[in-house]
Amino acid sequence: MNIRDGMCWGEKELSKKGIENPRFDADLLLGEVLKKARDRLYLDWEHDLSFQEEESFRSLIQRRAANVPLQYILKRQEFMGLPFYVDERVLIPRADSEILVEKLLESMELEKEQRAGQKIKVADLCTGSGALAISTAYYFPSAEVVGTDLSFAALEVAEMNAKELEVSVQWRQGDFLKAIANERWDYIITNPPYVSLKDYDDCAPEIFYEPKMAFLGGEDGLNFYRCLVEGVGSILNPQGKVFMEIGWDQGEAVCSLFQKKGFATQVFQDLAGRDRVILAR
Ligand code: GLN
Repeated sequence: MNIRDGMCWGEKELSKKGIENPRFDADLLLGEVLKKARDRLYLDWEHDLSFQEEESFRSLIQRRAANVPLQYILKRQEFMGLPFYVDERVLIPRADSEILVEKLLESMELEKEQRAGQKIKVADLCTGSGALAISTAYYFPSAEVVGTDLSFAALEVAEMNAKELEVSVQWRQGDFLKAIANERWDYIITNPPYVSLKDYDDCAPEIFYEPKMAFLGGEDGLNFYRCLVEGVGSILNPQGKVFMEIGWDQGEAVCSLFQKKGFATQVFQDLAGRDRVILAR
């Protein structure tokens, strides 16, 4: 089997199982085995695979064909242009969440002037792999960033990512707002579990490899927003803001929860034009 045969075989195997981008995934898995970037595979595609390489490739293709997410096989996912290590302990960061970090950074940048050297304090709840907290700290190094999660296992991954990217974030294990309750914050950001029971059951099979606790937000998916709206008022600084990721159909419900408690809200859309992030202040 040479590289070209391998790509074609892998693509066919994955497409038989209904994997969405079979050629792309097959190429990346072969690249992983041969330690070659994708363009290199195409340049060298007459190159024969050794027996060992062929065996490893077949086993990776089998895992992907069984719906294991590509990112868990490759153990990486890019977020905000940064490489993150991921495995089954954490939710795979989604490109849709980048809009939250972008809006947050914009807002912090505007405030920087008025702060005259005083540090901006940011708490990221349900941090998982640390994607939101770490990219915030990376692009805004003067901020004081704390990342929290209920899962110790997730925090191990987050800590590893922060170390690898050489950013400083303080990690705390704890139950949602309880982990940050005794301080005042300028920003509280979160991508909480927000999938309803019914939607979770209807999810693509890949999803079931990710931690269930990262998705389930109660019967209607809104439990964590109810918790936030009750608790954030007393721990935000007067100018403080909350940036939350939401499901595409939760904009109205979450805005209304916050407006009823006197917050002003703003909704931002993701790359596909769906409601994805809410700012409450
Ligand atoms: N963004 C995830 C999805 O693809 C949801 C993760 C969450 O519940 N925060 O559905």
